[in-house]
Amino acid sequence: MSQHPPVPSAGTLGETRAAAAAPAAPAPTAPTPAGTPVLTARGLTKTYGTTTALAGVDLTVRAGESVAIMGASGSGKTTLLHCLAGIVRPDGGEVGLATAAGEVMVSGLNEAGRSRLRREQFGFVFQEGLLLPELTALENVAVALMLGGVARPAAEHAAVGWLHALGLAGMEHRRIGQLSGGQAQRVAIARAQVTGAPVTFADEPTGALDSATSAEVMDLLLGATTGTGRTLVVVTHDEGVAARCTRVVRLRDGRVVAEHAGGAR
Ligand code: ADP
Ligand code: MG
Repeated sequence: MSQHPPVPSAGTLGETRAAAAAPAAPAPTAPTPAGTPVLTARGLTKTYGTTTALAGVDLTVRAGESVAIMGASGSGKTTLLHCLAGIVRPDGGEVGLATAAGEVMVSGLNEAGRSRLRREQFGFVFQEGLLLPELTALENVAVALMLGGVARPAAEHAAVGWLHALGLAGMEHRRIGQLSGGQAQRVAIARAQVTGAPVTFADEPTGALDSATSAEVMDLLLGATTGTGRTLVVVTHDEGVAARCTRVVRLRDGRVVAEHAGGAR
């Protein structure tokens, strides 16, 4: 983990999709050239008791893409996201992550290995519940870096930079419960990006927001990820969210039934 985490310049992210600017400093992980496969799922299967959550999913996610995973409730979206991110181990098949040191088999790592991979390579933005309510916005973001060994002053400096870039200047010391839903999601986006993780996973990130706030949060999420050459995998029910992504993958009963370009291409 870099001791000098990247800090974006204030107010640069997500004003509009097209105008979203890159952070001032490069991510600590060498950027993978756009279009190169970053995550490759091969033949993923997962069952819970008698329920088949994934019935053989193949999926390649390329650097710089925003991939929307869509499908009815229960179609396996969250299970797929969790397998890709090393949160859940598939019963069959494998997930490979391209790193500077070659392809790492996410699904083959033990819990400690997957935990380290999640901390260093991935950012997470979920519908709710991932922020620590007893901590402030600043602490919630800084802790992501401190868990990787960054000293508090450097972590807080980087956290402030991201909070400002996401329009939260002046709210650094509020606890999560003192923020609106949209503001809390901005904190979650800052936390997911502050480590410079090349891949962000989002599960229904706008599911609890009204449509105007959803659009703002998606602009910020896309600006912070694909807007800076990083990669986003987003589970959503919302066709408006999918329309902002570069690719859409549709699941039914644990299988990919359609794959097509999103509106952002
Ligand atoms: P989605 O995100 O598309 O709504 P999920 O991936 O959460 O779908 O779930 C797919 C199927 O697997 C559903 O039938 C769900 O009930 C089941 N499932 C998911 N997680 C678990 C679990 N931890 N225990 C038991 N069943 C689960
Ligand atoms: Mg789900």
